[in-house]
Amino acid sequence: MTTISNRLQAVTATLRATETANGRISGSVSLVAVSKSHPPEALREACSAGQRAFGENYLQEALEKISALRDLSPEWHFIAPVQSNKTRLIAENFAWVHGVDRLKIAQRLSDARPENLPPLNICIEVNVSGEASKGGVAPHEIKALADAIAPLPRLKLRGLMAIPAPTKEVALQHQQFRMLREQLAALNAAGHALDTLSMGMSEDFTIAIAEGATIVRIGTAIFGARVTRGL
Ligand SMILES: *Cc1c(COP(=O)(O)O)cnc(C)c1O
Repeated sequence: MTTISNRLQAVTATLRATETANGRISGSVSLVAVSKSHPPEALREACSAGQRAFGENYLQEALEKISALRDLSPEWHFIAPVQSNKTRLIAENFAWVHGVDRLKIAQRLSDARPENLPPLNICIEVNVSGEASKGGVAPHEIKALADAIAPLPRLKLRGLMAIPAPTKEVALQHQQFRMLREQLAALNAAGHALDTLSMGMSEDFTIAIAEGATIVRIGTAIFGARVTRGL
């Protein structure tokens, strides 16, 4: 029987091997276990196997798990686009938000971040595939948004995040992740001090690591197929 703990071990082994194969420092890539649609017991099992960081997409569902797992105090990552009426609860309950693509949302998150918590870690979502339907800012909009978010007092801008359009073309996968790495390098050359590239999911995380990912967000390969909703 394949358990969450077995799958987590296998993913971690692949992750570490891929770091080594690409000359990355061991431990330089961290794993966010994407637990959307899975019940609190599944996260509890992953926690017992040593997993600390969990990614959630749906606020209401996440709040139930945050409450159910309070004794374990894992690190919570909100990985979906943020609606403006959800900013307060997100600012109060998460350590990271991946997927900010508007200044207004960043300002609301900063305003709502409680004083007793450390600044909320933020990644700007970039549309690396040029799909009109996708969230994320266009590459030419990244710098202005980063310059505007960086000074917000209760946020810590950490880097960039992307969800490339799915493709089986390996060269294109590399190219999309490489674009995100080059955009991060350009921001740092312009005076930012960003350390995070949040890119890579179950199907493509080894390619993302080869291109410099520092956080991979992996769901299916750890928890199995999603059970209730979401994709
Ligand atoms: C669902 C989701 C993931 C995980 O996808 P898998 O293919 O199950 O690994 C990663 N990132 C985001 C933003 C997601 O919504």
